[in-house]
Amino acid sequence: MGYIIGYAVSGFVIIFSIIIALIAHNKVNDAFGTYKDINSSIDLTGNELAQKLNGDNNLNLTIKSCNGKLTDHYNPKDKSINISQSNFDNKSIAAQVIVAHEIGHALQDRDNYSLFKLRQFVIKTSNFASGLLIPLLIIGIILEILLMNSVGNIIIYLAVGIYSLSLIASLVTLPVEINASKRAKKLMFELGATSDDEIYATDKLLNAAAMTYLAGLLVSLAYFLRYLFLLLAITKK
Ligand SMILES: [Zn+2]
Repeated sequence: MGYIIGYAVSGFVIIFSIIIALIAHNKVNDAFGTYKDINSSIDLTGNELAQKLNGDNNLNLTIKSCNGKLTDHYNPKDKSINISQSNFDNKSIAAQVIVAHEIGHALQDRDNYSLFKLRQFVIKTSNFASGLLIPLLIIGIILEILLMNSVGNIIIYLAVGIYSLSLIASLVTLPVEINASKRAKKLMFELGATSDDEIYATDKLLNAAAMTYLAGLLVSLAYFLRYLFLLLAITKK
């Protein structure tokens, strides 16, 4: 009975965390909207800034432009910085902060930053294991119905274990993102964005981005709890 109540409560937790996620995305859009037209003292486009930081830090990265809005990312597989088209040729402080953040990830990769490596490993394992999730659950539930409870339970717990990998991935993502933003702040300051307004803008953009990752973690946790209570209700009925 307790598991059923837990299952119901976790539904509210999901709604609450989705509302937080929407607020966070709104904050990012607001901050980006405000600063996408304001230039900083660094007279470089997103692309030029990436080229400069690439050369200054001997990173040997490929710098590319990519489609979509706020789709900027670092790809550790081919060591590339992918800058969304609106930031590529833009000299705004928003474009520069986003590029500096992605360079922060490239620096984590170069420095073999342990949490960055752990995140890569967990995501790879989670992607592989998630392919097994649905077949395992179906087999587990069929065995439960056939009253082979002990075998069914083991399979269902294995499925929960696999699902928890995506939760661990969100958990590790948060400190990795905060660290990349810390590196971005340092890079922006060293390149000359040192006025109070520029420091404020840099903080505002990066803090809004951090809030989306925190919200992402909350959503993952809420879904994990929901599945956990559901499976416990099935196995311990
Ligand atoms: Zn990031």
